[in-house]
Formats: sequence, C-alpha cells, structure tokens
Amino acid sequence: MADNGLLVDGQVWLPDPHQTFVKGRIIETINDGKQVKVRPENSQEDPIILDIDKIDRCNPPHFDKCQDMASMTYLSEPSVVNNLMLRYKEDSIYTCSGLFLVAINPYKELNIYDKSFISMYKDSRSNKSDSSEKDKKLTSCKPHIFAISEEAFQNLITDGKDQSVLVTGESGAGKTETTKKVIQYLLAVVSTDKDNSTPSSFESQILEANPILESFGNAQTVKNLNSSRFGKFIKIHIQHSTRRLVGAHIDWYLLEKSRVVLQDKKERNYHVFYQFLKSAPESELKKLRLTRSVQQYGYLKDTNYAVAGIDDKEEYLRLQKALEVMNFSKEEKRDIFKVIATILHLGNLTFRNRSQDDRQASFSDDAPLSIVSELLGVSENDIRTALLTSKVKAGREFVTQQRTASQAKFAIDALSKSLYERLFQFLVDKINDNFSRNSLLSMEAQNFVGILDIAGFEIFERNSFEQLCINYTNEKLQQFFNHHMFVLEQSEYLREGISWNYVDFGQELKPTIELIEGSSSNKIGIFSLLNEECVVPKGSDTSFLEKLHRELHSKTNQKNPRYRPSKLRDGFVVQHYAGTVEYSVDGWLDKNKDPLSSTLVEILSGSKDKFVKGLFDSSIETNFTNSPVKGGQRRGGRFRTVAQRHKEQLNDLMKQLSATHPHFVRCILPNTNKMPGEFDKRLVLEQLRCNGVLEGIRIARSGYPNRIEFDQFAETYWLLAKNTVSSRNLRRRSKDICEIILNDLHLDPEVYKIGTTKLFFRNGVLAKLEKEKTRKL
Ligand code: ADP
Ligand code: MG
Repeated sequence: MADNGLLVDGQVWLPDPHQTFVKGRIIETINDGKQVKVRPENSQEDPIILDIDKIDRCNPPHFDKCQDMASMTYLSEPSVVNNLMLRYKEDSIYTCSGLFLVAINPYKELNIYDKSFISMYKDSRSNKSDSSEKDKKLTSCKPHIFAISEEAFQNLITDGKDQSVLVTGESGAGKTETTKKVIQYLLAVVSTDKDNSTPSSFESQILEANPILESFGNAQTVKNLNSSRFGKFIKIHIQHSTRRLVGAHIDWYLLEKSRVVLQDKKERNYHVFYQFLKSAPESELKKLRLTRSVQQYGYLKDTNYAVAGIDDKEEYLRLQKALEVMNFSKEEKRDIFKVIATILHLGNLTFRNRSQDDRQASFSDDAPLSIVSELLGVSENDIRTALLTSKVKAGREFVTQQRTASQAKFAIDALSKSLYERLFQFLVDKINDNFSRNSLLSMEAQNFVGILDIAGFEIFERNSFEQLCINYTNEKLQQFFNHHMFVLEQSEYLREGISWNYVDFGQELKPTIELIEGSSSNKIGIFSLLNEECVVPKGSDTSFLEKLHRELHSKTNQKNPRYRPSKLRDGFVVQHYAGTVEYSVDGWLDKNKDPLSSTLVEILSGSKDKFVKGLFDSSIETNFTNSPVKGGQRRGGRFRTVAQRHKEQLNDLMKQLSATHPHFVRCILPNTNKMPGEFDKRLVLEQLRCNGVLEGIRIARSGYPNRIEFDQFAETYWLLAKNTVSSRNLRRRSKDICEIILNDLHLDPEVYKIGTTKLFFRNGVLAKLEKEKTRKL
C-alpha cells in the first residue's frame, strides 16, 4: 500500500492470526513511512508496529455490501472477503467482481429461484432503458445467476453468437446446482409453441438427463453428499430468430472410475449401486443373482449403506422415471443393470490362499465367476484364463504367464472400471441421441449456450495424476479468462483512442501449460513423457520420474522454471498460477494406460450378449473417447492414453469456448461443515486466490480500472480546479473542463488517461480526489 499522505487516522485492514484480518486505525507512520503504528479496533492494548505493505486501506462505508466489487476504491483481499461476508450474512450469495459472478453456497433453500424471479430477470430486458421504472430495474439488476443466464440468452439473440457459462469451484461449492439454475432459466425463457408438444417434451428430456447423470456419475463424498465425479459441458441450442429451443448436447470429462473399486473412508461408491440394491424388485435382483445386502459386495462393503440426507429409494424412482422420459427401452434398462450386477459380482471374486509366494492365483470360489461369465455372455473358461493369466512377449513369441493374486485382482478391477466407464459413455450417448432426434431440424441459424461444470483447482495433501489433469484444465481456463479480459480491455482502450499496451496476462500461464502439454516447437512435456513411459518395455513410475527430472529439470541447466523435483522422493513440483503443487507419481503409468488386456477386450467384443459386445466392439467407438468421432478418423481400436485423450478433449473444448462469448461464474464453499450462515474467511480467501477472482482484480489494477465519463467528472470535481472553473467555463465542452481540472491538480500523467468519451484512472486516484474534495468543502 502506497498512499502515505492519507494514512494517518485512516481505517485499515490488519492481518490477524485468528480472524485472518481485522479492522484497525493508524496512529502514526514511522521509519520514513515504511512502517506504521496501528491499533486494532476494540483493542485497549498497546499499538502494534507493522510494515506498510502488510496493511490495506478500508473502503469508504458506502461501499459496504457493494454488488460489484470492481467498483470499490480499494480492491484488497480483506476488502473483497469482507464484502462477500457481509453480503452472505444477509443471504446475498451472489456478488459481481468485474467479469466474474461470485456465488457462495448458501447451504439452505433460498427463495430466489421461482417463477417470479425468472420474470424479474426476464423483464429486466425490456426495462433496461426505461428509467421511469428505476426501482424495478435496480432490483432486477442485482447480481444473480439468472442475470448471467439472461445476459447469455440476450447476447445469443442479439449478436447471433454462441455463449458459454463457465462454472468452476471446489467440490461442494455449488457448481452443479448453479448449472441446473442456468438450464432452468434458459428453458423458462425460450419460446415454446403451445400447439406443438415437441418442445415441451424436449425440455423435460433436458431436465431428466440430470437424474441419470447423477445416479451414475455422482457419489457421496466427505465434501458433498452428491458430488459429481466427472466434468461436463452441456450445450443448449437456441434458434435466434424464433428464440426456440432446438437442440442440446452433453460432453463429459474425466470420470473418476477408480471409485467403482475403491472408496475413501466415509465415502461411497456411485449412487446407482445403492439405489438399485435397495429398490429394485426382488425378482429382478434374483435374476441377476443379487441380494439386497450391501455388506455382501466387495466394492460396497466398506462404505456407508445409509447416509442422512440421501434417499436412495426415492432417487431410484427418479432415475427410473428419467430413463423412461429419455426413451430407454425395457431391454436397455435391463442391460444397464446387468452391467451394474456384473461389476458387483466381479468385486466378489476372491483368491485361494496359496502359501508359496502368492504365485498362480486361483479363485477360491467359482460361483461368482460363473455368474460373471453368464452375465457377460462369455465362456467361463475364457474369462477365467483372461483374468488369471497374461500373455507376455518373450523374444518373438508370446508366452502365457500365470498371474499372482494381486495381479489378477488388478485385472478384475480394471475390467470393472472399464465396464463402468463404457456404461457411462453409453448412457450419455443415448441421451445425446435422444436430444438430436428431438432437435428441430432447421436450416435457420442456431446458436448455443454451453454450460461448463468442472472441478476447480485442487491442492490436496497428496496430489496425483487426477489433480494434474484437473489443474491443467484450470490453467487453460484461467488463460482463457485472462486473454478474454485482455481482448476486452484492449478494445476499450482502442475505442477510446488511448495508446497504452495492456499486458496479455494469458501469456503468463504459458510456461506451465507447455510444461504439461508440450509446446509447438518442443513437444516434450509431462504428458508426452508419461505416454512414452507407458509404451517402453519395463517402464515404471520410477523410470518416468527420472525421465521427468532429466528432461524438464537439471541442476546445471534449469529447463523450465515452473518445474522442480520435489523433496518427497517420488515426485515433482509444478508452479501453477494458483500455487505450487507437489505431485507424487505413484501409480501414474497404470492410471494413464488402459489397463484392460487386449485378450479381455477380444473376448468381450465377441460376447454373445449384444449389449456387452456393443460396449467393447471397437467398430462402434467406445474405446477411450467420448467426443463425437469425426468422419474418416480411425475409430476405437486406436490406443490412446488418458493423458492424450484429456489433452485432445480439452483442446476441443477450448476451441469451442474461444468461439463463444464467455460468462464466468465462481462458486465458493463458505465452510467445510455444510453449515448455512457460517463464513470461514481464510477458506474463502484461499478459494479466491485459486479461482482467478483475485487474479482478475490484479489484472484490472494493472491498467486503468476506474473510468468516469467527462460530464460526470466535470460535474463532480470542478471545485478542485485551482481557479474554480467559472460558470463561463462550465458551458465549455466537458472534456475541456476535465483537462483544466486535471491540469490544476498536477497529477502524475502516468495515473490517468484521457479517452474520447471518458477519463481512465489508476486504482486509488479517484479516492484521493474524493478526499481532496471533502477537505475543500
Ligand atoms: P459441486 O457441484 O460444486 O460439487 P453442488 O452443486 O453439488 O456442488 O452443491 C453441493 C450442495 O450444496 C447441494 O447438494 C446443495 O445442498 C447445496 N447447494 C449448492 N448450491 C445451492 C443453492 N444455490 N441453493 C441451495 N443449496 C445449494
Ligand atoms: Mg458437482
């Protein structure tokens, strides 16, 4: 903070170990203005001495609870967090911060999403220029997810341009709920033709995609009872001439398939397993050789059978209804649950204990295996061999080798995960098929609003491959934001004829992104090295790590400053925009490869069961990808690693996003107890640092964030001119008056710019003028 002249007696934010920060007052500046003596508010103790850069100025009180934090005079971390807190305490969960809409999870039902609110935001459209209805305009302009949705809808209609709403945040912050609200709004405002039943049934189909995605893609975690374990991008297509809903499409990313076979303590497997076991008719379970007892299944037995707040039976009914609405046939429904049953039986395969070195695993009980083979439509012998043995290349020939019990368990789990992921793929494909069948074929131009619901930046105690994938995604999204802001700012400066080169902060993220995905000139990056290690004979996590250190870092010649070996023996450190993250490489090769053996794929693609065959048949593209395969591209059989697929999908997403007008929503977790009303300042601050909101403020401050039109400036500050601008002068062009005032103020020319319609100021300058004015009055 460098605002010495105004400091004394000023109210400031002080760091505080318990409350993160508290308000205080400056008693005097000391040490040539490098330090200050301050006393925290309500404290009788001796003042404390702090370095000047440890304190931040408080905003004038009229900024309390302000709706757009970009308008605040002092954009410091404490003022941003404090503003959000004051608003949250009175249930104002939405706040703007420049280009961001910040949404804080209320953890209670708020009465702000019903029809009347939809109409209010919808009506704000026609009232925008109607000042006689000022009050209405004011309420309707309150920050809200509907306001963003309305803006996206309006822009689509008026500009005929695709729109996107990018929603990110930590797990449990409210992303998925927010996404649903955007869709709810859009479906409410598109035109529906009452004589034609198609659109309305289409609308209900879009809404009914959710229960399906959530049963199969969500699970109870410590952070969220209904946590989505995948990312998604839902596009709602709207024809702009008629404003009608004409189509929809879902893309999904990074399904956490490891959850199918292994869950952390106090967490559950995917909802569908519990819903099905608890609610399916007895006869259906019997056919699939299942019982209701969750404890009986290896993949479920260590998880919570019942969780307060989750009604599996009710959700099962919702799922059934959704499958119905989405036109899943009776056979398809049977097939889907058959796969679920197969996975449960796979989890129950156990091994006979062999005393000697665990070699040559064999099943202790053949019963589950025979059920599995029956359900999968393959011979029991084939599947047994495929699970218990592997083919190893010896010289030019393949020899069959017995697996150890742990290797066989790995093969079984790999099959379960693969079945689940392919099933998920099938479900989304089917949903998309339905959408496209329902879409109104039209020659007329249509555009979409795409809503991205994807996990935000993650820094855990132990970070693995999954975290790298998600952090890489966020790195790209942040770059996209920074670049978007740059383009907008630059065009504003250009429009106003201001010659000033705004910095493209998107460039700052490039080294980290290239470290992960490689650059166009040098393809070597963490992903390419990982892929390489997955195909070399004898490649291992350790050899991968050695390669990383060798290629990306070496003591004598530090190649990428964003990379360094970690102090943990098995890892490396990446410097992300949101912080430094230490990754451990344990298990990366397995996580990146498709661990399903080609023998198994072969057996399953030859299954007698049409559905199972379909899931594995390479000719219908089930392998490794969920983005629509473009004509001519090689299908399924092509081996792609998880990293390759993610990079491709992400690049495809980025390409789509770059062609849209983006809107940014940042969801915030207010506390880790899921408690309404509780606001943990430190937790919120950490999220603001990671999610780009503070970054956005930093970028804004690097330019001339405070803008004021000539008229308004002249009117507000004319009495600051030395020879008070006379009434004769007042009749002059307001731009000239502004120049007179600015001249008289002897401001450093660096702190302001004169445009063609307005003045641009560096952060804090207007506040100074405001203070001067008060002094003069
Ligand atoms: P995320 O997708 O970010 O992990 P969710 O959207 O699933 O988080 O939200 C987690 C929980 O928080 C929801 O199940 C709901 O109970 C609550 N929640 C989130 N947003 C809202 C909201 N706008 N109003 C009421 N409750 C909400
Ligand atoms: Mg979610």
